[in-house]
Amino acid sequence: MKRRFSTSMPQNLTSPQIAENLRRVRAALPSGGELVAVSKFHPVEAVKEAYEAGQRVFGESRVDEVVNKAAAMPEDCTWHFIGHVQTNKLRRMLPAVQVIESVDSERLLRLISAEAVRANHPVKVFLQVHVAAEETKTGFAPDDLIECARACKELPCIEICGVMGMASNVDDDERINADFEAIAEVGRQLRAIIPTARELSMGMSGDWPQAVAHGATFVRIGTDIFGVRN
Ligand SMILES: *Cc1c(COP(=O)(O)O)cnc(C)c1O
Repeated sequence: MKRRFSTSMPQNLTSPQIAENLRRVRAALPSGGELVAVSKFHPVEAVKEAYEAGQRVFGESRVDEVVNKAAAMPEDCTWHFIGHVQTNKLRRMLPAVQVIESVDSERLLRLISAEAVRANHPVKVFLQVHVAAEETKTGFAPDDLIECARACKELPCIEICGVMGMASNVDDDERINADFEAIAEVGRQLRAIIPTARELSMGMSGDWPQAVAHGATFVRIGTDIFGVRN
């Protein structure tokens, strides 16, 4: 059963709404909690409205979009890539982003490191874990993520800063809580290997309060800020 995407949210939000949505989300985040405003599929005008309301950290899932938006926006923005990384587009994407949250294989992590060295562009990464019920969601199995961290903890031009994950897209609070707890547990195991990798990126529009309750330090929120995507 689909639970996400508040259908009551109007499309093409006007600026006061984006600013108000940002205020509401920020007020509910714990201190030190970071909001990644997921602007994918929304026009750069919407990103500018959020910027004017003080938002600096944005999430995108497509290479063309992040490259274009990063070029159009002031340099004090931070761009998180949260989508599937196509390795043939990595070279084009890398200079536009500071954080790649969706690293889901050792091969990809090594490629990112090599490309970051080549471009002299250090990048922070999250290792993405798969715990959700849906098979389509990408990510490492928990044990594979830990194995990758052991093998790759000293790759150059890479800072592994934590775990990213998604809960199942279901109407079942118990399952969602169990998923966030499972992601947090992988985070604890990762910290035993890389003590500085303390961030937990989890929680989206439908479930971020639960993610925060389970220790999320980054939430990635699109719909609740910008409205429904086309
Ligand atoms: C699109 C997306 C989000 C934001 O989803 P909303 O439900 O609109 O808040 C968060 N994380 C990832 C990985 C996404 O692809």
